[in-house]
Amino acid sequence: MTKTIFEKTSVGRTGFTLPQNDVDAANGIPENFKRKVDANLPEVSELDVMRHFTELGAKNHSVEKGFYPLGSCTMKYNPKLNETLVRNAGFSNIHPLQPQETVQGALEILFELQQDLAEISGLPAVTLQPVAGAHGEFAGLKIMSAYHKAKENKKTKIILPDSAHGTNPASVILAGYEVVEIASNEKGMVDIEALKNAVDEETAGFMLTNPNTLGIFETQIEEIAEIIHRVDGLMYMDGANLNALLGIVKPGEIGFDIMHFNLHKTFATPHGGGGPGSGPVGVRADLEQFLPIPQISQNNGNYFLDFGHKQTSTGKIHSFYGNFAVNVRAYIYIKMLGENGMKRVSENAIINANYILKKLEKYYDIPFNEYCMHEFVASGNWQKEENGVSTFDIAKRILDKGYHAPTVYFPLIVKEAMMIEPTETESKETLDEFIEAMIEIAKEAKENPELLKTAPLNTPVKRVDDTLAVRQLNVKFKIGN
Ligand SMILES: *Cc1c(COP(=O)(O)O)cnc(C)c1O
Repeated sequence: MTKTIFEKTSVGRTGFTLPQNDVDAANGIPENFKRKVDANLPEVSELDVMRHFTELGAKNHSVEKGFYPLGSCTMKYNPKLNETLVRNAGFSNIHPLQPQETVQGALEILFELQQDLAEISGLPAVTLQPVAGAHGEFAGLKIMSAYHKAKENKKTKIILPDSAHGTNPASVILAGYEVVEIASNEKGMVDIEALKNAVDEETAGFMLTNPNTLGIFETQIEEIAEIIHRVDGLMYMDGANLNALLGIVKPGEIGFDIMHFNLHKTFATPHGGGGPGSGPVGVRADLEQFLPIPQISQNNGNYFLDFGHKQTSTGKIHSFYGNFAVNVRAYIYIKMLGENGMKRVSENAIINANYILKKLEKYYDIPFNEYCMHEFVASGNWQKEENGVSTFDIAKRILDKGYHAPTVYFPLIVKEAMMIEPTETESKETLDEFIEAMIEIAKEAKENPELLKTAPLNTPVKRVDDTLAVRQLNVKFKIGN
């Protein structure tokens, strides 16, 4: 068992040396604000700290350690060059309240990123302010709501397919609308008849992930847009899955009016620990007036914070101008790849996913076995019925083979779902090894189901009791307990 860093304490040991303080910094601070409690910090040397966290880090899984096919999360490898460049003092030592003429370069980057995302999406106006995909959804739906308000449209609901990501209904509710869910058809796509039945004059818009969460491209998108636009509804695209479309499809050209991007998925920011992120929103030209302020604009080569549409804007959605460092990484990534490079990203992401799908279709049920985009959804149905082994057991066994598990039990419309997204950065050799491991697990399910039920056996932490962890949440460590 690894000791906690507190258990490594040796009283009096420190990891730093500072010169004697000759200023009484606490002088003048009122007594009632002074902390009297012992801060209870670990007393360790610098080397103790380094070893402690290196050891913990090695126990964790990361894309730099092994394949990470966590569907819908686009866990690609992000070039280290981005990290080196973004740490440049010219980026890391500036302050958002600095006079604008002293940060022209930073503003130029933000301006160009707005333009590049507009070009990629076919939606001409972009805000970089939201800092997550879900945050972008919320910002986009506020824009939708401002549009209807300006036109005095009486709109109450937003339609979503039953394959939608969980953040979609949550954002709809937060934006003040009702959710109307429609079923998918037998091909895993929007059921046009169900859509027609759900649409009426009170429909504010339709929110769709394309390719959808089954990894399938919604080919009837133009017909869907036509149905929604007929009642003056707006088409919102959840663009978290843009990794399949770069340089191939522009959402603005196939009927979408608003979309968000997940820069931390598609555009090169590591996001294993849940952040930081960036969820810019792109809109069609007539919706630009509703974007959060400020926009970054340009006049004769002078870049400035533009508050011009203050009267119509939905307001600010985040402090300053969003997550600057994440936006800079995306900018570098886009400039380095260029148009052709980005197209190759998506082509390779699609080829990699289809390759695994074809190799596994004999071993695992694939309920919507269509030509897929950047990911596909397999199911542990056969193993469950024939061997009493669940997707949960399979996922745990995948850890034993040295991989991160796929996304499981999502989307909700597939029983025993395993959502596999390889991304473009993996080689054929890695894909082949993963396929081999998945086939082995299918065999183990038949020959030794008990083994799978006790997996993982080779990881630092064995199977945890998820239910207990949720019911008796205890995230505090206490020495001697
Ligand atoms: C990841 C994801 C989101 C949410 O993005 P966050 O940055 O995690 O808020 C929304 N929709 C889909 C389809 C996603 O994959």
